[in-house]
Amino acid sequence: MAPNKDDGANAMSFSNTEAVAREMDATDPLRKWRDEFHIPTAPNGEPVIYLCGNSLGLQPKRTRSILEQELDDWARLGVEAHFDGMRPWYSYHEQFRETGARLVGARPGEVVMMNSLTVNLHLMMVSFYRPTRERYKILIDYPTFPSDTYAVKTQIIHHGLDPADALTVMQPREGENTLRTEDIEHAIEREGDSIALVLLAGVNFFTGQFYDIPRITKAAQARGCVMGVDLAHAAGNVPLQLHDWNVDFACWCNYKYLNSGPGAVAACFVHERHGRNIDLPRFAGWWGNDPDSRFKMHLQPEFVARQGADGWQLSNPPIMALAPVVASMEIFDAVGMAALREKSLKLTGYLEFLLDQIPNKRYEVITPRDPAARGAQLSILAHDEPKALFKRLQQQHVVGDFREPNVIRVAPAPLYNSFHDVWRFAKILAGQR
Ligand SMILES: *Cc1c(COP(=O)(O)O)cnc(C)c1O
Repeated sequence: MAPNKDDGANAMSFSNTEAVAREMDATDPLRKWRDEFHIPTAPNGEPVIYLCGNSLGLQPKRTRSILEQELDDWARLGVEAHFDGMRPWYSYHEQFRETGARLVGARPGEVVMMNSLTVNLHLMMVSFYRPTRERYKILIDYPTFPSDTYAVKTQIIHHGLDPADALTVMQPREGENTLRTEDIEHAIEREGDSIALVLLAGVNFFTGQFYDIPRITKAAQARGCVMGVDLAHAAGNVPLQLHDWNVDFACWCNYKYLNSGPGAVAACFVHERHGRNIDLPRFAGWWGNDPDSRFKMHLQPEFVARQGADGWQLSNPPIMALAPVVASMEIFDAVGMAALREKSLKLTGYLEFLLDQIPNKRYEVITPRDPAARGAQLSILAHDEPKALFKRLQQQHVVGDFREPNVIRVAPAPLYNSFHDVWRFAKILAGQR
């Protein structure tokens, strides 16, 4: 993928000894970050092999004190903490203007933390899926995460249309596991006149494929379609340049690679050129209103949108739920996506190398081999008894996850996983018959 100059992992050479795994950890410039996280332990006292950061990221140690600060401010100040708290609640969400934007290659004001992912998808479709007689379809990728399918289908139905006609699902070619960019482009080219919205994953949850977002965005917009991206598996995982790629909108959750805890408050990106348009239709609430008139309350009942992504907020921010996002953004901002990606390429490349070494295996990796076309995750498709295999891995304290019907997903997260974690995992997998 052209915009990411990160195909270095292919050129790396690895060795499969434990000593080399230890050596790679010793020279890893990000190694200190592992100590910033709580790593669950197995009954034998050893840390589990946690390769599930793509599903639920681990807890940063600093989260507790940041959360406790809010409890303390509430106890100490009551309502006054809106302005006098250490991190004033009134403008709490504004803490993410810069850090949230840097995470995904956005400009300040293009990103807001609010609601949860599926809610944000709906809010974005309210504004950006405006079907007409001629242009009414939504194009999505397959496999599709169920919540996204439900959201898209019910939006279509909400507009009085039929998903059987209005939903186009891009399937990989016969015998292939992932989508070819040119096939997506051709589908857009072919059906473009009738497509209102292309809604793609950034990184597909099942296959781990990282799509060529700038190329697909270009193709979609050239045909007059809106481009939306679900970054659930991409944010905090792969480098993104949402502003420059000209993506119209994007949503992601903060509990996967971003470690903000189960059901964490999610994020939303609205491109500046839409954010400036305060007349864009939307479902509104008071926190999306211009702060200058927000507290005129009943004296000014007309909604006046605040510029930027903030203008899509509904309610006043849930402080206790946002505190872990503060911890997360501090960490990601301190490490930086470039350094994280550099380690991630090496870590996942190392995992691939070790899996390649295993003889006579009855499984295959369906994630693209091209490091530029994937993030941290490798999806292992097991040919026989996938569930039994997964169970045996669990018994040896491997934490990954199983996706029906036959895929085991493992994702070494570069913030806290070590090369030794990856080595231990590969050794256990190699020992399975
Ligand atoms: C994790 C994930 C979700 C989860 O949605 P929530 O609203 O956060 O429960 C939705 N879509 C995709 C693609 C995901 O990976």
